[in-house]
Amino acid sequence: MPAAWLDQARISVQAGTGGNGAVAFHREKYVAAGGPDGGDGGRGGDVVVVVDDHMTTLMDFRYKRKYVAGNGGDGSGNRCSGRDGESLTIKVPRGTVIREAESGAIIRDMADDTPFVLCRGGNGGWGNRRFATPTRQAPRFAKAGLPGQAMEVILELKLLADVGLVGFPNVGKSTLLSAVTRAQPKIANYHFTTLSPNLGVVSLGEGTSFVLADIPGIIEGAAQGAGLGHDFLRHIDRCRLLLHVVDISGSEGRDPVADFEAITQELRAWSEGLAQRPTVVVGGKADLAPDSSGSDALRAHAEGLGLPYFEISAATHRGVGELMAYAAQRLSQMPPPQPFAATYVPQPPAVEGDRALDISRADDGTWVVEGEWLRRVMMNVNFDDFESRSWFDRVLRQSGLFHRLEELGIQDGDTVSLYGLAFDYQR
Ligand code: GDP
Ligand code: MG
Repeated sequence: MPAAWLDQARISVQAGTGGNGAVAFHREKYVAAGGPDGGDGGRGGDVVVVVDDHMTTLMDFRYKRKYVAGNGGDGSGNRCSGRDGESLTIKVPRGTVIREAESGAIIRDMADDTPFVLCRGGNGGWGNRRFATPTRQAPRFAKAGLPGQAMEVILELKLLADVGLVGFPNVGKSTLLSAVTRAQPKIANYHFTTLSPNLGVVSLGEGTSFVLADIPGIIEGAAQGAGLGHDFLRHIDRCRLLLHVVDISGSEGRDPVADFEAITQELRAWSEGLAQRPTVVVGGKADLAPDSSGSDALRAHAEGLGLPYFEISAATHRGVGELMAYAAQRLSQMPPPQPFAATYVPQPPAVEGDRALDISRADDGTWVVEGEWLRRVMMNVNFDDFESRSWFDRVLRQSGLFHRLEELGIQDGDTVSLYGLAFDYQR
């Protein structure tokens, strides 16, 4: 991996723990025994990921591997809730794909500007005032905050460019990019000049523009991991159109058709989808060619494959305008690029330890169900969310609660109360 560039990073992220609830009692002059007034703990901070268009690499993640959001503050007396923990924002370049480290499943493709909550902070614990009941007026306990979500993830940069330049090193890809965009890639007459991909916007006026990426030189064996090229291939994955640049000048003693085939093999070895991507064959360094033999052979080869062929000189700009106009026209006929769909399925939080439940009947006949694990589970359920509700329903069924209620003689239409959640029982 070149020191200057990193397109994959493994990091661990941890949302904040919720603050603890307080045990406190109201104190006032001349009031003998005030009621419980311990406030709740604050929520732990979330870990949020956002796109930053000033970033073009994942280099920032090279040395900092652990990202932790702030914990919630503890509750205190006088019904004071603890402050919420500070959320942590992680900035990534556009096109960063977040994967779960173990399974490799895609959690999110950071293609747009919507902030993404990667890990949620834990809820704060309830203060003792929440536990006061008619029969328990002075609860001397409160609850601890819950831990925030934690995860190991892999960040992988897959550039969002419409058009990708591919080809052997030194064929003039960077020169072409600098000729048609404001990008200023390094250009030099030796192989592997480019260590990081460069992006530029090609503007053709009248609102027609596209993003062109200079993908660092691919060499033979790149798809098998030889050399640097391997790391760069992933960036081409998203390009809708490839400009395959081939040196037709013979200045390095190369055979244009053999070069074209060698790179095509590399693309195929990486992915068949990439080999099938719409491609334009570009004969470059035409100004250096002593005769037209190289260009003629490559043109015939391209036509045999049904691919369009353009002859250019990035140095003199000959043919460059026509090539860009053609690329824009092809893009206009293609569907817009799609972000990668999420494949990661979040696991419901594990229910640990004793699953004991106390069932009692209130004076009005309500079935009151209590249990520490149930309370913890309920604090984690978002009752506005269908998925969360159905998960909670499954947990309740597995706990055997409904079976026990029936043994105790519950009737259809009776009210069941679970920590403030009341519902009518239906068999
Ligand atoms: P890359 O490795 O494919 O990005 O190639 P570069 O753009 O860095 O170019 C490699 C060398 O070829 C540099 O010395 C360029 O100045 C030169 N070069 C690139 N395109 C042309 C061209 O169209 N004509 C001539 N004469 N030289 C070129
Ligand atoms: Mg280059």
